[in-house]
Amino acid sequence: MEGLPTKLNLGRRGVNIETKCPLCEKELESTSHALLYCTKLWDVWWSWTTCPINLLAENKEFVEVALLIMYAGTPKDLETLFATAWSIWYNRNRVVHESQCETPAQVWGFAQRIQGDYNGAMTVCQLRKQSPEAGWAAPPPEVYKINVDGATRVGGLSGVGVVIRDCRGLVLVAKSKVMAGSYEAGVTEALAVEEGVLLARERGLHQIIIESNSLEVVQAIRTRSSHGEAGTVVQGILVLLDSFCSWKVQHLKRDYNIVAHELAQMAKGSAESQTWEGVEPTMLQHLLLADRANC
Ligand SMILES: [Zn+2]
Repeated sequence: MEGLPTKLNLGRRGVNIETKCPLCEKELESTSHALLYCTKLWDVWWSWTTCPINLLAENKEFVEVALLIMYAGTPKDLETLFATAWSIWYNRNRVVHESQCETPAQVWGFAQRIQGDYNGAMTVCQLRKQSPEAGWAAPPPEVYKINVDGATRVGGLSGVGVVIRDCRGLVLVAKSKVMAGSYEAGVTEALAVEEGVLLARERGLHQIIIESNSLEVVQAIRTRSSHGEAGTVVQGILVLLDSFCSWKVQHLKRDYNIVAHELAQMAKGSAESQTWEGVEPTMLQHLLLADRANC
C-alpha cells in the first residue's frame, strides 16, 4: 500500500512537492491518512453503518485495518473497504488534477455502485462455472466447435448460420446461407446442422462438437430419429457424421448461440449467401470477442 503515490510517499521518493493532504490541507498525506483518517473522509466512512470494527478509533496502517476487517467481518465487508478506499482515492485524484470534489455521499454512492457491478460480474462468472449450459465454451484442443442456427420467414426463403471455431475461439469458417426454399422451423434447424457438418467435412476436420439451440433437432440426432420431414434430413446428417473420428451434438441456449443466430438472421434478410474463411465477420466481432472471454 505504500506504493500509493500519496504526497508523503512521493516526497519520500525524492519528489520535491508539498506533502500536505490536498483535502484537509493540514496533515501529511500518508496512505492511511489519504484513505481513512483525513477529517474530510469521516462522513464517507460513517456512511458504513454496518462496519464490523470501530474503523476510525485509532490510527492504523491501511493493511492492518484490512486484516482486522477480514477477521471480524465477512468477505463482503472487505469488498466494501476496498471499494470505498478506491472511490476515495479516485475522488482525491480529481481534487488534485481536476480541482473537482465530490460530496461524501457521492463518494460513498460511487463505492456502492462499484461493489454492485463487481458482484454482478462475479455472479455471472460463477453461474457460468456451475453450469456448462450457461454460456458458449471453447472446445478442447484438436476439436472444433460448430454452432448452427436456422431462421425462417413467412413467404420468404429460409436462412442458416454456421460458425466453426477452434479451442482458442478463433473462427475457421463462418457462413450465412440463403436456402433454396422455405422450410418450417424444425426442418430449417436440421438443415443448419447439415450445413455445419458439410462445412466441417469440406475442411477435413476430424473431431467436432455441434451446438444447436433446437433441443428437438439435438434429440432427433441423438435418437437417430427418422420421424417426419426433419427426420429425412437427420438421416442424411448421420451418414455424414460417420466419416468423422469423433462427433458430439449438444444443446446450447438460444441466448448463447448468438453468433450463429445472427448469421442465420443475416441470411434470412438478404438475397445472397456469404462465407468468411479464417476471418471474422466484422459486424459480429463484438459477439465473437465476448465468447472468447470464456476460453
Ligand atoms: Zn487530510
